[in-house]
Amino acid sequence: MKKILMALGALLISTSALAATPWQSIHQPISGKPQSIGSFANGCIIGAHPLPLEAPDYQVMRQDQRRFFGHPDLILFIQRLSDQVHHLQLGEVLIGDMGMAAGGRFSSGHASHQTGLDVDIWLQLPKTRWTSAMLLKPQPLDLVSADGKNVVARYWRPEIDSLIKLAAKDNDVTRIFVNPAIKKQLCADAGADRGWLRKVRPWFGHRAHMHVRLRCPPGSLECQDQPAPPPGDGCGAELQSWFAPPKPGKTAPVKREPPPLPPSCQALLGEHRL
Ligand SMILES: [Zn+2]
Repeated sequence: MKKILMALGALLISTSALAATPWQSIHQPISGKPQSIGSFANGCIIGAHPLPLEAPDYQVMRQDQRRFFGHPDLILFIQRLSDQVHHLQLGEVLIGDMGMAAGGRFSSGHASHQTGLDVDIWLQLPKTRWTSAMLLKPQPLDLVSADGKNVVARYWRPEIDSLIKLAAKDNDVTRIFVNPAIKKQLCADAGADRGWLRKVRPWFGHRAHMHVRLRCPPGSLECQDQPAPPPGDGCGAELQSWFAPPKPGKTAPVKREPPPLPPSCQALLGEHRL
């Protein structure tokens, strides 16, 4: 029996590597009690919910991509954050990619966003709502200078500080990824209230959006959390290391063959793929 399972596993892995993303063929959430399974970069989700596409406090971009699914905790977080932003009149919240209906690996664009606990939110906060044409083909605002060392002063606004700070102060949020130049600006602007900066992590890219990650939901027993970020605000040596000349090995991660899926995701894929 074990041999058969192993052979089946190998077959699933090899075919999933060939067909870039079997997850893309699952169009509806898998019914069941919401469960995030596996790790952010190698997992799936049962019982995902769609983010309501019509809402007074946020707008959803590229709806044709159908990447607006997530764990109910992620939906609640987006609604909670947007409500706060709306009350403070910071601008319109623009929601980018969340996850697919059953989570899993995208054909392109993201390594994570696989367990329904990640969302990209643009650092743009327009003062008026975008038209549906604008939402379908959104124009990102590159906030980082060409040399990567600073934010572009004419694009940076205190509202962007506030947006990231509000998200970081949310109890369900464990990490927020932004470009190192953006973290540097947040560090400079923060003043005495700095505890939230610990969650804001410098990373490659992320020049026009922040990537917000939630903790594993209680009850998702197969969900794998990351260790907490290092203590402190992360504004010192660690941040500086991003601006030092690149050391060997300090390059953007190379795309590797995906690791084997968690068994529960493999089983789910076996049952639901076309
Ligand atoms: Zn992201």
